Amino acid sequence: MARYTGPVCRLCRREDMKLFLKGDRCYTDKCGYERRAYAPGQHGQARRRKQSDYGEQLREKQKVKRMYGLAERQFRGYYYKALRGRGVTGENLLVMLERRLDNVVYRLGFASDHAEARQLVRHGHFRINGKKVNIPSYLVRVKDIIEVKEKSRTITRVVDSLGSIERRGVPQWLELEKEAFKGTVKSFPAREDFTLPIREQLIVELYSK
Ligand code: SF4
Repeated sequence: MARYTGPVCRLCRREDMKLFLKGDRCYTDKCGYERRAYAPGQHGQARRRKQSDYGEQLREKQKVKRMYGLAERQFRGYYYKALRGRGVTGENLLVMLERRLDNVVYRLGFASDHAEARQLVRHGHFRINGKKVNIPSYLVRVKDIIEVKEKSRTITRVVDSLGSIERRGVPQWLELEKEAFKGTVKSFPAREDFTLPIREQLIVELYSK
């Protein structure tokens, strides 16, 4: 799958908010957005013009897509799945994104950002309910138990990341047993579990045009 490999702090600056794409660095004063809180590029410091409705919808979609490190096609696929599901499309979309295995690995603190989580999953370091799963897009279900494979529990990146999980915190829909390198899905995430500001209705409006 094609994925963005350029400078990630640029993405935060474009979306005018911290997207937490760079692990521990995001919590230090080296954060690119903290240092230069204006859009990237030659005209980045020019006054931002008022956005059109379309512009706002597009930015909201780009923001969420970048938070989860997804390509357009994949992201759009989630939207159509969310549309077919019961309930509110925007919320269905967010819940599905949050249930991705790479995201759960990140939320449980086994990786310091989404890109690292995706790579660790791809390299087969995790088991779900005792079975190896190496598909980042795998959608976890309630009562699933996600654990780091025994042999992988000494990987520096995993240990370091778990060491700083208190700072990030684990969402209440997940339960982490830090010493056992294990986490459980207690429930699906609720809308209030999304702490970053997201206006999912704008994404729905964009795709339903
Ligand atoms: Fe974004 Fe993290 Fe870079 Fe800050 S350090 S701009 S939060 S990716």
